[in-house]
Amino acid sequence: MEDQVEEVKQKTDIVGLVGQYVALKKLGRHQKGLCPFHSEKTPSFMVNEEMRLYKCFGCGAGGDVFKFLMEIEGIDFRDALERLAEKAGVKLVSRKFEVPNDKQKLLEVMDLAARYFHWLLTEGKSGEEARKYLEDRKINSNLIDTFNLGYAMPGWDYLMNYLVNKKGYSEELLEKAGLISKRTGGGYYDKFRGRIMFPLQDASGKVVGFTGRILPSLAKESEPKYLNSPETEIYHKGRMLFGFYQARQAIREKKRAILVEGQMDLISSYGAGVSETVAVGGTALTEDQIEMLARLAKTIYLSLDADEAGIAAIKRAVDIAEKRGLEIKVVNIEGGKDPDEIARKFPDKWRELVENAIDVYEFVMLKSLEKNDISTVSGIKKVTEDVVPFLAKIENSVVREVWTKKLAEKLGVEPSVVKQEIERMKFGRGPVEKYQLRNVPDKNEQIDNKMEKLAKRLVGGLLICPGAKSKIRTWVKDTKLPGALGKALAMVLDTDENDATRLVEKAPAELKGLIEDAYMAEGEGETEEKDVLSLAVQLLREVIREKRKILIDELKTVKTGGSDSKEEELSQELNDLDREENKIMVLLG
Ligand SMILES: [Zn+2]
Repeated sequence: MEDQVEEVKQKTDIVGLVGQYVALKKLGRHQKGLCPFHSEKTPSFMVNEEMRLYKCFGCGAGGDVFKFLMEIEGIDFRDALERLAEKAGVKLVSRKFEVPNDKQKLLEVMDLAARYFHWLLTEGKSGEEARKYLEDRKINSNLIDTFNLGYAMPGWDYLMNYLVNKKGYSEELLEKAGLISKRTGGGYYDKFRGRIMFPLQDASGKVVGFTGRILPSLAKESEPKYLNSPETEIYHKGRMLFGFYQARQAIREKKRAILVEGQMDLISSYGAGVSETVAVGGTALTEDQIEMLARLAKTIYLSLDADEAGIAAIKRAVDIAEKRGLEIKVVNIEGGKDPDEIARKFPDKWRELVENAIDVYEFVMLKSLEKNDISTVSGIKKVTEDVVPFLAKIENSVVREVWTKKLAEKLGVEPSVVKQEIERMKFGRGPVEKYQLRNVPDKNEQIDNKMEKLAKRLVGGLLICPGAKSKIRTWVKDTKLPGALGKALAMVLDTDENDATRLVEKAPAELKGLIEDAYMAEGEGETEEKDVLSLAVQLLREVIREKRKILIDELKTVKTGGSDSKEEELSQELNDLDREENKIMVLLG
């Protein structure tokens, strides 16, 4: 299997793959473009055809073809492998790769259940009432197919009979999948009965769960209107966005995502032509869900209920958005209607509302001003308490200043007063974690040390111009730089492998990433052999400078201590260093 992974990798054209998502331009040894994983105006995203690697020098994202597809499509390794294998014409021998049997079986049974429900809705006699209900709600056959909607009959064991007696699956598996429940007196019964079924699909389209809406004629006090699958091995509600699979393409193209509350809101919005819509589906909005959207969109439009949960969701969205450079807008719906109703009855109106969405900070301000009387001191205080925590989150100080002024104007106070409140929130009692977050070094930790910088460049340079190795080998090897960089440099100098790709393959696992990084960073320019030699000289001089510093320090202590022999020894070492430096200068020109 590992050979097959390698084969797929070799047969996949990384520039072609990435090029489907990012406009690339040739630069040095790389192709360069705007990073799809973070928001930027000048390109720092590189793709290297030879090494089949990508790397962003802005956010640190990087890896091979599989990683790229996983990240950009929000799918797992197995999915990425299968997709690329298909494109490359590689037949995978074991489809069970890395997927436990159990999970595979769960996916199988969910897929069958979805097909069964879908058949009942579209062809089955018993689906009549459900069809009529959807027709009344303007959900046509096109939408039914797109979202794979279905119908579960009102009886207690239709699905169970089908899957156990006809298809041979065990009751235990069905229970694990959340499709049936245990009866108190023994035996099982169908969990979803008399409901319109909305399959929950993961990012690659696989059904992992269901939401079922009860048919109005069967509604009972004791039964919830919407029933969701329990969390299972394959379904995690915090990582699920309903309609994400269907909306992905549109989100990527339009660089925006509309986030609505329920399945019906989503389907109606989609039907009204706003196909970049996804639904949270009755749970609280999570960071994972926003991350899924942030990978593809630059702006997220929230159209959630303006209740407590909705406001909390807006807060979470703003937190992540500010960290990731995303923009958040709010589709402001007057009069307590939901997107479903508007999009269904007045599709034009819905599209207009989306286009006229307002900035999240404007929205928070408006909402607070609506409910508080700012002719009173307590009213002003309430508005401040509502709005300031949001403004304090704004990372860009110019943008923060703009909103600060707006709020001050509305309240009729001096901007400096609002600013003071914001500062207090940021650094005082307020969300301290925010301040700490910014100090956490990111994955792509900056190398401040000049010596390390040079060593890294030298590793990259030697991969590009292996001819320089023999000229500097003896000199540089003697420096014995510490750490992983030192090891990487020694390895690159030692090996007779002159092909960069094969060299990386041969490198020990712990050095691979470092060597790849060095190569990607150096390949951006037009490094030639003379540049590599110059890098070596600079590095050696830096090493000598460091050593000299240490010796001089030692010499100072010795002098005050009064040990003559030690002093002599150190002076001798210093002289040796100077000579060494001169020799290098002469040899390398
Ligand atoms: Zn990036």
